[in-house]
Amino acid sequence: MNAPASSRTGSNPKIRQRQTKVVATLGPASGTIEVIRELVAAGADVFRLNFSHGVHEEHRARFDILRQVENETGRPIAVMADLQGPKLRIATFADGPVELTEGQTFRLDLSTEPGDVTRVGLPHPEIFAALKPGTDLLLDDGRVRLHVESCAADHAMTRVVSGRVLSNRKGVNVPDVVLPLSALTPKDRDDLTFALDLGVDWVALSFVQRPADLVEARGLIGDRAALLAKIEKPQAIDSLGEIIALADGVMVARGDLGVEMRPEDVPTLQKRIVREARQAGKPVIVATQMLESMITNPAPTRAEASDVATAVFDGADAVMLSAETAAGAYPVAAVAIMDSIAQRVEHDPLYRQIIEAQRLPFGPETSSEAITHAAKEIAMVLGAKAIVTFTATGSTTLRVARERPGVPVLSMTPDLVKTRKLMLAYGVLVIPSQPSPRFQDKVNSSVALARSLGIARLGDTMVVTSGEGMPGSTNVLRIVTVGEPVA
Ligand code: PGA
Ligand code: MN
Repeated sequence: MNAPASSRTGSNPKIRQRQTKVVATLGPASGTIEVIRELVAAGADVFRLNFSHGVHEEHRARFDILRQVENETGRPIAVMADLQGPKLRIATFADGPVELTEGQTFRLDLSTEPGDVTRVGLPHPEIFAALKPGTDLLLDDGRVRLHVESCAADHAMTRVVSGRVLSNRKGVNVPDVVLPLSALTPKDRDDLTFALDLGVDWVALSFVQRPADLVEARGLIGDRAALLAKIEKPQAIDSLGEIIALADGVMVARGDLGVEMRPEDVPTLQKRIVREARQAGKPVIVATQMLESMITNPAPTRAEASDVATAVFDGADAVMLSAETAAGAYPVAAVAIMDSIAQRVEHDPLYRQIIEAQRLPFGPETSSEAITHAAKEIAMVLGAKAIVTFTATGSTTLRVARERPGVPVLSMTPDLVKTRKLMLAYGVLVIPSQPSPRFQDKVNSSVALARSLGIARLGDTMVVTSGEGMPGSTNVLRIVTVGEPVA
């Protein structure tokens, strides 16, 4: 295989000049093959299908385009189905939006009558069952706050604490209460079946409240997709460790998190969630409002640029775009700017210092753990160009990604369907390949591959790890100089 000319200049379309991944949400602004090709070329690594919007056929069309573009570029694309979850909503008003006054009373009830300035329907009996006087309800992403003064099984009398306008079907958050709701509504179950049949790589579960939510979802998903827990409820923070342990990945879902808790809680929670997920070796995404102003503007604010940079400095596996790419006017520019911010940060010497300062304690006492630690250290000491793992399940690859090496982690795998999900993880490039039984052949094939991709040239060093003789365990590490015969 001859390296295309572009690979020598580092512009091979399979290769990124950064290890932090970019997740882009698809929507009306990005549903065509032309735009999706441009998003991939600009740096999108993982795509999110948001089941809060759109119909199944739209998601299917986007999914098919993603697989086609993946074939064109040869770079695996992980697809995530994001289930809406139990997003609670008020019903509708008789004459459009109403104007509330601070201090007035406002009634929520189970009646199907259209609402007015004194009351509106809230068709969720389980909320009334869980409410207590003194609870606050947040509507319309926190723009309206209602304080519950009295309640019964079919209604609640509230006082308007803040907010002015309320319109049809606005969302309702109940921050302080664990609602007796499954994280999977009937719509979610239907969407889940559809998404699994499509063949998505990740399923994201919204409004996770307790570890049992993940157990329930896992029971339905089995091993057909990886499971990502969106952290956006205070109750999830209370059992964060258990939730991370039960999930394959997590998202710092700052939109709802900043409504359920206070906005000032979000930055420290972001740091804590990223750190705990990384410690557990589970991919973690920082999401929502990262380049929000780019929904309508071709350039980000300085504060937004700084926010993306902070997530990269925190050591997140991925940063995410939502409405910016789904419904904004500049979807490709948003990805391109996210890509350049991440590159800029990762190439700054301070970045390595900050990442290295967050040294992780050793994981389990296994040879895989020892080898993956060593692989990263050796790569850093020798200035190696890549770390290679051979994996059927992806577990060794994730252990290497957990160390946040500054070089690509080439994950050589016989099973693309099972391992494509790893494209979400820091630095990982999944490479479908049938491993030969002999270790030196594995080394030779991975070196040839790295050369053809333009990652390593003659004389460069690479670190190759593998499990030899003992399936499921990585026990060999080889330092290779590219071009030297491997015996
Ligand atoms: P959403 O989740 O965009 O599906 O609401 C992300 C968030 O809440 O931040
Ligand atoms: Mn959310």
